[in-house]
Amino acid sequence: MPSIANKFNRLGTELAVTCARYSRKPNCVHLLAVSKRQPVAVMRKAYAAGQRAFGENYVQEALDKREQLQDLDIQWHFIGPIQSNKTRDIANSFDWVHSIDRAKVAERLSAQRNPALAPLNVCVQVNLSGEKSKSGVTLGEAEALCSLIATLPNLRLRGLMAIPAPLDTLEEQRACFLPLRLEFERLQTLFPGLDTLSIGMSADFEAAIAEGSTMVRIGTALFGARPG
Ligand SMILES: *Cc1c(COP(=O)(O)O)cnc(C)c1O
Repeated sequence: MPSIANKFNRLGTELAVTCARYSRKPNCVHLLAVSKRQPVAVMRKAYAAGQRAFGENYVQEALDKREQLQDLDIQWHFIGPIQSNKTRDIANSFDWVHSIDRAKVAERLSAQRNPALAPLNVCVQVNLSGEKSKSGVTLGEAEALCSLIATLPNLRLRGLMAIPAPLDTLEEQRACFLPLRLEFERLQTLFPGLDTLSIGMSADFEAAIAEGSTMVRIGTALFGARPG
């Protein structure tokens, strides 16, 4: 079994090679280590290997981990579905939120964020697959939600995020990401602070990097299958 440090090294190399393949600047794609359902001992090893940004999906699990990892300088990213009654905890215990999908959640996060903290970095989640069961606004709705967020004092609009339905081939995955990339580039002309395209997971990060990802969110390919 390769060590966690080994896995981070290997993935780092793979990301660099993939960037080169698609003429992306090295280091332009940030790695978010998705640590949901992984024990804090594993996160400590990842931290020791140099990783600082961790993604969590479940509020209570993340709060427990924060408590246990207080001694580490971790950047906490919330990437899961947001229930309105959890916004206060999310607003004050994370540095980033990738999964804003409605005005009410954006307004609550800004109202509840402690103004003494730096503004919360946020992305608007876009539903690319049109599945009713999945969260996210349509591509056509993204601009309106970005416009609202840009007016909220305790949020800092950073970009767009998506979780497409699984597709088998690189070509299909790229075709799915392409409209998001084009809309992201258009929105960048309207919102100058927009610098983050949060796409790419273990099974589709090559396609995501080919289509302009600036932050890949990787769990399984780093940590192995999630326990439980
Ligand atoms: C679980 C999860 C990931 C990581 O998925 P892997 O396939 O394990 O890399 C990325 N983004 C979100 C939103 C997730 O829920």
